[in-house]
Amino acid sequence: MECYPNKKIIIAIDGFSSCGKSTFAKNIAVKLGYVFIDTGAMYRAVTLYGIDNGAIVDGVLNETKLTQLLDQIEITFKFNNNREASDIYVNGALVEDKIRSIDVSNCVSAVSGMANVREKLVAMQQEMGKNRGIVMDGRDIGTVVFPDAELKIFMTADPLVRAKRRYDELRAKGEEVSLLEIKENVISRDNADQNRAVSPLKKANDAVILDNSNMTIPQQMEWVATHLKRLMS
Ligand code: C5P
Repeated sequence: MECYPNKKIIIAIDGFSSCGKSTFAKNIAVKLGYVFIDTGAMYRAVTLYGIDNGAIVDGVLNETKLTQLLDQIEITFKFNNNREASDIYVNGALVEDKIRSIDVSNCVSAVSGMANVREKLVAMQQEMGKNRGIVMDGRDIGTVVFPDAELKIFMTADPLVRAKRRYDELRAKGEEVSLLEIKENVISRDNADQNRAVSPLKKANDAVILDNSNMTIPQQMEWVATHLKRLMS
C-alpha cells in the first residue's frame, strides 16, 4: 500500500462485534502512519470502571450510580511500540487486558446505550480526529462521530466465524470460556447495538461493505488499498 503524506483523511470503520475491525483498522493506520483509535475499548473502559466501583453488580447496571461516577473517569491512550497501537488507561491505570474479559463484554452494551456515556466519549473521539489522519473503529463512527469521513467501511462476517475468532483469542489468553457462551454474547451484543435508542449500529448510506467471513488479513488489506487508491488519485 502506498502512503499519502499530503492528504490526511478520516477512515471510519463500523460493524458487528468481533469482525476483526480493530486488527484491520490498526493495520491500515500502521501502513498510512495514521493514529488508530478503538472506540469499543473506551466503552469497555467505562464498563470496567462501573464494575469496579459498584455501578454494575452481578451484571446489573445502575444507571444513576454510573452517571454519578462519569465525571471521575479519565480515559487516556499511550502508544505501545510492541503492539503498534495505543493502550488504554483509566485514571492512569493500564486496563487494556481487563476490558476484554467476558464480564465486561456481557455488560458493555447496557453501558453504551446510555446517552450521557455516549456524549462524553463521542466528544473525546471528535477531538482526537480534529486534525484528520485517523482510523477509528466502532459502531457509530461513520454515522455520528465523523459523518464527513472520506472513507467509511461497514464490516460484517458470519456470526459463528466471529464467535470462533473471539473464542480463540480469549482461550489464548487463558480465559475459561465456551464457544457457545461467546456465540451468545456476540449475537446478543449485535441485537443490543442495532436496536438501542441512541446511535444504533447501522451502515451509513455512503459506507462500503466488507464481509470478511472468508478473507485473510492480507486480502482485506488489498481490498482497502483499491478504495484508498480511488479516493486519493
Ligand atoms: O468493538 P467492541 O466489541 O470492543 O465494542 C464493545 C461494545 O461497545 C459494543 O458491543 C458496543 O455496545 C459498544 N460500542 C458502541 N459504540 C462504539 C464502539 C463500541 O456502542 N463506537
